[in-house]
Amino acid sequence: MNVGFIGTGTMGQPMLANLVKKGFAVVAYDVVPAALAAAVKSGASAAGSSAEVARRSDLVITMLPSSSHVEAAYLGAGGVAEGVAAGRLCVDMSTVDPAVSRRVAAALETRGVRFIDAPVSGGVPRATDGTLAIMVGGDGRDFEEARPVLAAMGANIIHVGAVGSGEVAKLCNNLIAGVSAIAVSEAFRIAEGFGVDHKVLTEVISKSSGNTWVMENMHPVPGLVPRSASSRDYEPGFMTDLMAKDLGLAVNAARELRVPVFVAPAAQQALRLASSHGLGRKDFTAIYTFLKPSSDQAPV
Ligand code: NAD
Repeated sequence: MNVGFIGTGTMGQPMLANLVKKGFAVVAYDVVPAALAAAVKSGASAAGSSAEVARRSDLVITMLPSSSHVEAAYLGAGGVAEGVAAGRLCVDMSTVDPAVSRRVAAALETRGVRFIDAPVSGGVPRATDGTLAIMVGGDGRDFEEARPVLAAMGANIIHVGAVGSGEVAKLCNNLIAGVSAIAVSEAFRIAEGFGVDHKVLTEVISKSSGNTWVMENMHPVPGLVPRSASSRDYEPGFMTDLMAKDLGLAVNAARELRVPVFVAPAAQQALRLASSHGLGRKDFTAIYTFLKPSSDQAPV
């Protein structure tokens, strides 16, 4: 089977490598030449546009930064819609606004093309191991058709519901992960102010009610979890700007539904502030470095 892969960045790269390893013939495209060259190094053949990827493949995967990139790659000039044959299936694995998934699905449907959203969780380590969690929105038969391809990249593949609902699940997950990273960072800054050892605190929390996947796998404090971004100078991983985007999508969804939300907007603003201080392209757990104690020792 020929699988098209558009967006061979931080996540796309290891996901594509796993498809190649599992025997799929992969044709790739990325707007950044270095990213495309890396995909070729992993065993993919290069295409000159998203339309060409769609023409040359049986199933198209996209792994792009945000909503506007997904709309451009599918519906813009030289996009998937220009090259894809009727009857084909497209799988968007990016994290985007669920309304965008529905809009792209509807536009493709007019050409007889099927679309499902299948965002992922687990970051680069799980993308590399091929054990991503994948949450799928779309028709049940399309889900089953995509399953063998998704299984080359993920271990927990869950059908959530109709088109867009994979994205809803993803936004809910990232709301919790984004807030957790800030909560863990704040807690460790307080503890270190009192001279409590990071390693000991990690051990205590990992056995207590504050334990979180973020602390166990993506510890914001360097040197405690070898595979965490913090242990390699916060190289992403998952960029601060992308997490701020996801929290923004969650806040927008809540606003649309008139659900009151308090911590998600605060977390988003903290990440935006960190971004404006140069941390946007660092891993989102670098928020820990931003939450330094004030030099003003006056009592609060
Ligand atoms: P990234 O920016 O590293 O990679 C995206 C790639 O898409 C880049 O190489 C970029 O050049 C390319 N691109 C942008 N517009 C394009 C277009 N029109 N046509 C072709 N290529 C285009 O981002 P990433 O970290 O790989 O994340 C991708 C998606 O996965 C995001 O939606 C992100 O929220 C989500 N995600 C990321 C992680 C993570 O840990 N990095 C984890 C889960 C989900």
